[in-house]
Amino acid sequence: MRSVLVAALVALLLGISAVARADLKVVATTPDLAAVASEVGGKHVSVITLALPTQDPHFVDARPHLALDLARADMLVAVGLELEIGWLPTLQSGARNGKINKGGRGYLECAQFVSLLDVPHERIDRSMGDIHPGGNPHYMFDPRRVAKVAAGISTRMVELDPSNAVAYKTGLDHFLVKLEASRQRWEQALSSLRGKHIVSYHRSLTYFADWLGCSISAEVEPKPGIPPSPHDLTIILGIMKSQAVKLVLQEEWYPGSASQMLAEHAGAKLVRVPGGPDYNHGKSYFDFMDTLVMRVKAAL
Ligand SMILES: [Zn+2]
Repeated sequence: MRSVLVAALVALLLGISAVARADLKVVATTPDLAAVASEVGGKHVSVITLALPTQDPHFVDARPHLALDLARADMLVAVGLELEIGWLPTLQSGARNGKINKGGRGYLECAQFVSLLDVPHERIDRSMGDIHPGGNPHYMFDPRRVAKVAAGISTRMVELDPSNAVAYKTGLDHFLVKLEASRQRWEQALSSLRGKHIVSYHRSLTYFADWLGCSISAEVEPKPGIPPSPHDLTIILGIMKSQAVKLVLQEEWYPGSASQMLAEHAGAKLVRVPGGPDYNHGKSYFDFMDTLVMRVKAAL
């Protein structure tokens, strides 16, 4: 019993010192960004995620311990495009850490690195629901865009911690080689999606569809954050039948009953996928995409 306790204490101390030794303390808003930052930064960084993979990143509880994480951070990696608008500013002001506030050297919004889709041309107002006025922030479903994000993260790590510049550049190179090989494998697995129509719950699969050459016929929610009415469902069902939609694809945190009903009536399949890697249990961006691709492929 005693040796177990000692072993636990040693492990704890080692864990703490490993974090304390990290040259760059990085906090990412979402687990997919955390996984990418961790692979690029390697042993020189400690990376934690604010949102859990089971949590819808639009709505994260701004709990005080997350502000504490930010207070100690050298770098904050965010998605941007107001994905985190409902909770991140509260945490940033609670953290009182100028480095990771907007405009600070340590603050990095990754949306700047990718070509954006769904950028609204007309004026946005609240009647349109909880929409993203700067464009669609769900770009991590497209590995081509993730490559750009990884490069942006590496560049900023080099700026913040030049003594490890070589390591951050090498980390990026390794990540990109692996990503390129995986991308080709994923594209092959899902090649039959090309030209097809699919339905998603939230407008979060725009980049996924752009990557794989399929199109999104409709979203189950009529406006972001608003559940569908029976009338909405009738309209979506009509679209699904006329466009031969065989797949309803959504993140696990969205409700499944309306989507399941639609799928059954349209002769389609509902596939629920994680919204990001289980980073806190050691899963990588590749694990996440492998799971996603495998589940979609099984339904095709
Ligand atoms: Zn969204």
